[in-house]
Amino acid sequence: MPLGAYPTPVHELPSLSPRGVELWVKRDDLTHPLYGGNKVRKLEGLLSAARERGKRRLVVIGAAGSHHVLASAAFGGRAGFGVDAVLVPQRRTDHVVENLRSSLGQGIRPFPVRSWGAVPRAVASLRGPDAYVIMTGGSNVVGSAGYVAAARELADQIAAGELPEPDAIVVTLGSGGTAAGLAVGLEAAGLRAELLAVCVSDPAPAIDAIARSLIVACARRAGVSPLRALSRMHTDARYLGAGYGAATEWGSEAMRVGAEAGLVLDEVYTGKTFAAVLETLRARAVRRVLYWHTLSSAPLEPLLNQAPKEEDLPGPLRALLR
Ligand SMILES: *Cc1c(COP(=O)(O)O)cnc(C)c1O
Repeated sequence: MPLGAYPTPVHELPSLSPRGVELWVKRDDLTHPLYGGNKVRKLEGLLSAARERGKRRLVVIGAAGSHHVLASAAFGGRAGFGVDAVLVPQRRTDHVVENLRSSLGQGIRPFPVRSWGAVPRAVASLRGPDAYVIMTGGSNVVGSAGYVAAARELADQIAAGELPEPDAIVVTLGSGGTAAGLAVGLEAAGLRAELLAVCVSDPAPAIDAIARSLIVACARRAGVSPLRALSRMHTDARYLGAGYGAATEWGSEAMRVGAEAGLVLDEVYTGKTFAAVLETLRARAVRRVLYWHTLSSAPLEPLLNQAPKEEDLPGPLRALLR
């Protein structure tokens, strides 16, 4: 089920490229004008699979301000699915509140729980013959296939002369689907770039292990060597700070630098990742860096149109914002 507008643009960020080093960006913030970011590519396969199996309802899981829940609400709803969302508390920021309100405005049925530990039980209660359960972040072989294809898209842009071949690609590692798909896709497309996966979720070793098992599964499906695909991805957990969603000094600083160059970044995912980009540039270890941007830059106003105000949220939903 195609959703997005491809290929997404690529361009250099000359103001951030120190002498002798180039920084390029792949603009997956622009995958869709209604709501962009990396969840769009993953949902294409997931919504197709749900439809092929005759499902009418999606069960999705995420933190209160989850981009995956919001994307599922926006695109799943438009594709005719009901969307049940199991929601876990998250530190309150304006961005998180807007995302939650937008998801509600897009018609999710919210099922707030107290912690990640309570998720399996809530999901079990929502299963049924009409339900298609999508794991956290949409990260499974079907979702990741969108990023195997995205690496091919990048290879085509390189072949067409839109950008030179990068030596390193830096991307956020949240639930693993994006990085895993890219690692396999780079191998399949014969690109030589190393993939630097900046971990923003905890515990980092578990997230890395999940991403690696996803690489193996995706590699088998794509017919490439799992070992070679595994060797592509280097996980870096040094930018995580106190944990998922916790603001960091370096993330906030990277958000400021990114904004000056015209990139809107966030505290949870892309700010930390961009801090790693800036450090990679500073170290001059590689000549050409491509930052794969994964945060939607679409204005939220249209999605907030029908959304409830924060002060009107019922108690259990307000309790999600800590
Ligand atoms: C979900 C998300 C990620 C992480 O992608 P995964 O495939 O879950 O690793 C990165 N950036 C943004 C903005 C996201 O919403």
